[in-house]
Amino acid sequence: MKIRNTPEDYINLNPLQAGGRTVAETRLAVNSYADGYAGYDQYSGPFFQIPKKETEQLIDKLKIFLGADGIFFTHGVREAKYLLMQSILENNDSIIVDGNAHFSTVLAAEKLGVKVFQTKNSGFPDYKINPKNYETLIESLKKKNQKPRLLVLTQVDGTYGNLVDAAKVALIAKKHDIPLLLNSAYLSGRTKVDIGEIGADFIVISGHKSFGVPGHIGALGVSEKWIDKIKSPDKDAKPWDLPARYLAITGLLASMDTIEKRVGNWDEEVKKANWFVEKMESLGDIKLLGEKPKQHDLILFDTPILERISANKRKKGYYLAEKLKEFGIIGLRPGQTKELRISTYGLTRSQLDYVYQTFAKLIKEENHGI
Ligand SMILES: *Cc1c(COP(=O)(O)O)cnc(C)c1O
Repeated sequence: MKIRNTPEDYINLNPLQAGGRTVAETRLAVNSYADGYAGYDQYSGPFFQIPKKETEQLIDKLKIFLGADGIFFTHGVREAKYLLMQSILENNDSIIVDGNAHFSTVLAAEKLGVKVFQTKNSGFPDYKINPKNYETLIESLKKKNQKPRLLVLTQVDGTYGNLVDAAKVALIAKKHDIPLLLNSAYLSGRTKVDIGEIGADFIVISGHKSFGVPGHIGALGVSEKWIDKIKSPDKDAKPWDLPARYLAITGLLASMDTIEKRVGNWDEEVKKANWFVEKMESLGDIKLLGEKPKQHDLILFDTPILERISANKRKKGYYLAEKLKEFGIIGLRPGQTKELRISTYGLTRSQLDYVYQTFAKLIKEENHGI
């Protein structure tokens, strides 16, 4: 099998990958556990008797990091949302989710026969979610004698990278006595999100999206009063036996030291994102979509100029991603030129300046008819 060297050889702008990049310490630790069921080191008896030392350590760390009282591991955010919904919702219940929600939120609810009502976003060009719209929807459902059983807020959505003030939604949730779930796939791990401080009941996090973890792991964090309500879809399994297994747990535990430190850089990460937006917009005919100034590193640009340039090339839309790769820049979806969705997370200012200079060069060459 070929050894992959993408992170060493390229500047990767793919927003799905940015917060999941692993550091050397995490790789080294995980590598040392990546042999023959390493959990057995701790016991010679059957599987269920293996002391779950790492699991317990990780649970303790996550409780503090998330401000949660109970932690349940899954393969990712999708599974964590489903775990929560199938535990507390029933067929024909209603829930309210934001207008920028990830498709997997709606899918999880629909699979359970739960009705989903979505708040609107503000539309072009900033597509913001206004917390007040939750209240409007709750009131209008009330008039139809329906009470939503859960509010779901995507703290940062994966399309525009807009951040919503979760504390404002939490106040509305409290006022109407409806529990609130934060989908923090894109936020917790980049910065600290504490559900106790915010006043939310649940949070779902993604190890591979925002915690620099190799492999797939997610978790559901819940506040005290919900701990006993969370039940596994498999009746015989205990919640702590949910899918995430040893190596994924070890990976998240290994990365927690880095995470606890790196959240201190969040202000600089956001400043850097805004700095990069300004540079790219100065090229003309490139415009930020989503809120401005940005409060997150995921950036969506409207890029008609790149679409025009690519249209004249033999490879059409595929020209751009291929050309950038020649310059050592990857992470654009091949064929996509009308819009660019990228992340500046974890890249240095000089790397980002190089990205900007490369776009400037491509555009300038074109204007000279080369
Ligand atoms: C990526 C993403 C997910 C899915 O996360 P997984 O941990 O891979 O299941 C869910 N919601 C949002 C908002 C996302 O950006």
